[in-house]
Amino acid sequence: MAKKTSSDIYGVLGFPAKHSLSPVMHNAAFKELKINAKYRIFEVPPQELEGFLKDLSKNNIAGINVTIPYKERVIPYLQKTSVEADLIGAVNTIKVSQDGLEGFNTDGEGFLRHISEVFDFDPRDKKIAILGAGGASKAVCVYLAKNGPKRISVYDVNHEKVRGLIAHLVHCCKGPEFIEAGSIEELLIQEADLLVNATPIGMKESDPSLVDEKFLHQGLFVYDLIYHHPQTALLNSAKKKGCLTSNGLGMLLYQGMLSFRIWTGKNAPKEVMEEALLLTLKKSHQV
Ligand code: NAP
Repeated sequence: MAKKTSSDIYGVLGFPAKHSLSPVMHNAAFKELKINAKYRIFEVPPQELEGFLKDLSKNNIAGINVTIPYKERVIPYLQKTSVEADLIGAVNTIKVSQDGLEGFNTDGEGFLRHISEVFDFDPRDKKIAILGAGGASKAVCVYLAKNGPKRISVYDVNHEKVRGLIAHLVHCCKGPEFIEAGSIEELLIQEADLLVNATPIGMKESDPSLVDEKFLHQGLFVYDLIYHHPQTALLNSAKKKGCLTSNGLGMLLYQGMLSFRIWTGKNAPKEVMEEALLLTLKKSHQV
């Protein structure tokens, strides 16, 4: 068989996407495993989305991650979707093969793997409060709801989104009690075992915490999906109150490892990918 000389191309599709950390972790993994591949950023405006997706194979692109605002919009262009992507209603990973484009979602599993493998947190019988009802929240909520919690309460400034998400959870995941919270008080954080921030509040270092300190307590695990800096205001006050805390870098790493396995069939080199992420954040003075 002739030796393949051109590298496979992978990348992240988004608009904007130029601040993505995915290239550093995937390129480090390809290098470590001596895979002849490169991971790039594809910042594609909406009017070019259809053409970009149709030409993936022609352009030697073997797989992509999908980020804001395309996680739902790519679905009509796929030939197949995984059970997880169907359940969440969004795709963050596409594999290109001779059979066409197949969509997956690794966000929810990435989150769950991180909290269980690193923090030994099992959602079973737990009371869970979620801030935000957008795309990331949906992936996280579906995975939590599938794992036997006692209760999930969700709050978002956009009440329609909360209503839609709760209706989806009631339909897909029988068992837990679901609460459509009309305010942060109604999330019942003071009784919760896990609080997840899935809003963008905290992405700017000057952002305040959405949660009054009086609701935070020992025994509460506070997980902020934001990974651009290690300590958001929410995580700072949670730490002060004796909570276990995590930012979202682990979720980013685990969802990336799962995508890598889907594309290459190989186990992702976790330590190498994590080191690449931390180094990049340090260099950009974000750590
Ligand atoms: P999204 O779809 O825009 O959802 C965010 C939701 O938060 C929106 O419904 C938004 O409402 C709501 N919101 C905004 N301000 C709020 C406030 N003050 N109080 C309550 N709700 C508020 O975004 P996403 O894709 O889910 O991402 C959310 C966050 O997760 C981002 O910071 C993102 O970087 C992070 N994330 C991390 C990972 C990871 O791997 N760690 C993966 C995905 C996402 P409006 O739309 O009305 O503003």
